[in-house]
Amino acid sequence: MVRPKKNRMVSSNPDIGYFTPGDTPAADVDVIKLSVEEREALRLSDLLEMSYEEAGKKMGVSRATFGRVIQKARKIIADALINGKAIYIKGGNYTIVSEKTMFICNKCSHQWEETRKKRGIERCPACKHEYFQSVS
Ligand SMILES: [Zn+2]
Repeated sequence: MVRPKKNRMVSSNPDIGYFTPGDTPAADVDVIKLSVEEREALRLSDLLEMSYEEAGKKMGVSRATFGRVIQKARKIIADALINGKAIYIKGGNYTIVSEKTMFICNKCSHQWEETRKKRGIERCPACKHEYFQSVS
C-alpha cells in the first residue's frame, strides 16, 4: 500500500513558473516539470545555503527526505541545462506557510510580526515612529 505523501511546507508560490532555452524554437523543446517543493528545496539549500537538517525542518520533513527532494530537483535542473529542456514549475504536495519576521520599535519597544514579503511597513503600528528593526 502506498502511504499518502505528507504536504511539504513552502514559503511562497513561485513568481516565475516557466523557463525555456532562448535559442531553441519553443515547439522543439522538451518540457520537464519541477514541483513547487523541489523549487523550495533548491531555494533553501542552494540559494540560502542552509544545511539539509535546517532546510528539512523548514519544510517539515526529515533530513533524509529533504536529501531525496533536493537530489531530484538538482537532476531536473541539470537535465534542463545540459539537454536544453524547458522547466515548468507546478504542482506537488505542499502547503504555503508565510515566513514571519519579528520587529521591535526603537522608541516604544512595541513588538509585532509581519510577513517578510509584505512591503510598506514603514512605521511602528503602536506609536507611528519611523525607526524600528527586525529581531529575527
Ligand atoms: Zn513604537
